[in-house]
Amino acid sequence: MEYEHAIVKMNGDVANLLCNGCGLVIAEGKEHEDREHYCTLCMSGNCKAKFKKEP
Ligand SMILES: [Zn+2]
Repeated sequence: MEYEHAIVKMNGDVANLLCNGCGLVIAEGKEHEDREHYCTLCMSGNCKAKFKKEP
């Protein structure tokens, strides 16, 4: 499955769902709703980390 909004990255054999705001791993598995997902910190606006795009 390809995602347009959700960020799902493979980490070895495990797929992780990442926060769209900061890149924190929110959940494991590769089946997720294709929408933007945010961690609790980003949802509350208190996240100080910024998402870094890996090359
Ligand atoms: Zn976040």
